[in-house]
Amino acid sequence: MGEFELIKRFFWRDAAEDAHTGVVLGIGDDCALLQVPDGQQLAVSVDTLVADVHFPASAAADEIAERALRVNLSDLAAMGAQPLWFTLAITLPETNEDWLRQFSHGLFRAAREFGCALVGGDTTRGPLSITLQVMGAVEPVQALRRDGASLGDFVLVTHNLGDGAAALAMIEQRLAVAPEHQAYLHQRFYRPVPRLREAQLLRGLASAALDISDGLVADLGHLCAASDLAAVIDVDQIPLSPALQSLADREQALRWALTGGDDYELCFTVSPEKMSAVAMLIAEGQLEAKVIGELVAGSGVHCEREGDAFQLTETGYQHF
Ligand code: ADP
Ligand code: MG
Repeated sequence: MGEFELIKRFFWRDAAEDAHTGVVLGIGDDCALLQVPDGQQLAVSVDTLVADVHFPASAAADEIAERALRVNLSDLAAMGAQPLWFTLAITLPETNEDWLRQFSHGLFRAAREFGCALVGGDTTRGPLSITLQVMGAVEPVQALRRDGASLGDFVLVTHNLGDGAAALAMIEQRLAVAPEHQAYLHQRFYRPVPRLREAQLLRGLASAALDISDGLVADLGHLCAASDLAAVIDVDQIPLSPALQSLADREQALRWALTGGDDYELCFTVSPEKMSAVAMLIAEGQLEAKVIGELVAGSGVHCEREGDAFQLTETGYQHF
């Protein structure tokens, strides 16, 4: 099977089906032609996932694909953007039709769920690696940037932290998990939920935001640096899932929540003036989020427990 036939069989879609997202010309020409909605800005992000670095090469192909797209969409969510399109550059060690069929199935399942269209890509041979570029639209001024936080703003996170790292430990058989929590953790790793809905609620309310991919301390550190402030976090306020709370080693659970990667939750800041509106969304059950600290003068992320410094041994995932 040649490259062109492979693309045609597994990745080609009828562009007419995607016309509602602004696809004028999809896969098949030298470039795609895309219409950005009137008056909106284009948000663009790209990520590469390498087999055995970012996911186990032996994982099911549909789960690899779903995870790849969901992780990328998390970046759009963190910007307050609505997904529209994506491209796929895939490097394959061989042409395995079963694997490709499964991969394509997972990819389009996630694409359908989040309403974004595959509009182009590149296909090459080599060690398995997947590069996705996602594109979305955001109203000017409403983007959730990292540099908008102010002194005294509250720091919040959505849902709970630490599941990503615990799930990876479970998948790599470094962690024994009670049977009732296994399915939950598996899907937290392979099917992370881009917090698009939450981000839409936070437009105009959050002063700054990002998604947590490399661990809370590392990522909140980026927000602090961009906003020229420090953060003080009360580690006992960090939300943990029932699965993580059930682990015997509570310090390990907390370490995963603070420095583990792969959570894809939002970390965002809210000014004291806007906090009541956010608290209302939380109380009404529209937004699952929790205050874990605040922004102060200085630099870096400082973790505390009952008012004392809480010492960390690791500070998040470093690629190099
Ligand atoms: P070119 O030589 O102009 O780069 P290619 O032969 O690489 O063109 O690709 C042909 C068409 O198929 C292009 O429209 C390209 O965007 C699309 N394409 C290639 N690989 C993929 C892929 N993995 N997924 C989606 N579209 C792809
Ligand atoms: Mg090409």
